[in-house]
Amino acid sequence: MGLALIVHGGAGDISAREATPHRAGAIRAAQIGWEILAHGGAARDAVEAAVRVMEDDPTFDAGIGSYLDRNGNVTLDASFMDGATLNAGAVAGVKRVQNVITLARRVMESEHTFLIAEGAEQFAQEHGIALIDNRELCTPEQIAIWQECLQSPPVRETAKYVPPQAGGTVGCVAVDRAGDIAAGTSTGGMKFKRPGRVGDSPLIGAGVYADNTLGGASSTGWGEAITRVVMAKFAVDALASDRDPREAAHATIEYLAKRVHGTGGIILADRTGRIGFCFNTPRMAWAHITEQTGEIVGDC
Ligand code: ASP
Repeated sequence: MGLALIVHGGAGDISAREATPHRAGAIRAAQIGWEILAHGGAARDAVEAAVRVMEDDPTFDAGIGSYLDRNGNVTLDASFMDGATLNAGAVAGVKRVQNVITLARRVMESEHTFLIAEGAEQFAQEHGIALIDNRELCTPEQIAIWQECLQSPPVRETAKYVPPQAGGTVGCVAVDRAGDIAAGTSTGGMKFKRPGRVGDSPLIGAGVYADNTLGGASSTGWGEAITRVVMAKFAVDALASDRDPREAAHATIEYLAKRVHGTGGIILADRTGRIGFCFNTPRMAWAHITEQTGEIVGDC
């Protein structure tokens, strides 16, 4: 049994120029989460704190700096799961909350598991989470990308749909001293997405999963494919018989690719505090630390 924390900052064709801030942001998030775990804090608090760091960093497609949808709005999705109780919470299509990971956690702690759009925002307000103007989430860089997309929209919805692989969704899995495992995922979704489109990230089992008896996982990549293989639950189930999380992560991405021609990445931590990750995109931002290694390593 040992403490462990792993984060991702999205799988995709992140450019060499973008790789540096992605790597730095992932490492910073892992540091913040680890401080909580190392001081005896709960995995739930470590996951929330680490994801919030990346939501507040415009580098990532989560919180501020997310991709805009076709209508020119940022709409956010997030999910949270507690492996001790199997309680889970998620939100989708949220326009007026920056840290939707916190909102997903609040939903998890309520009588519900999934709230969307204005209803989720109303819930946020009732639970003391500040509502902001959607414009505050739209950075000049992302507005420029949206304007480019308006000129030449990405090719979509054909039989031979090739997903844009931009990257930037964020997620975290942590194991605390009590052996509790938590996982969370947060995203602005795909670049220039159809309004109302929801990917895997807020779907319990697809974008996130945690169960103290096995481990926890957070997904990133082409949401439609990840959803169809319920990837995070697949990855956690692959930890059965104390399988090495590195092997389980590899088997998961192999299944995604073979079964639905999917592209993406997965991060995993098991109940003993071992970690694993895998991706089949050009890059994925990641960082991790375990009690065994005692050192944060990360890359993109
Ligand atoms: N999985 C996210 C989605 O489909 C995107 C990503 O991970 O980059 O919304």
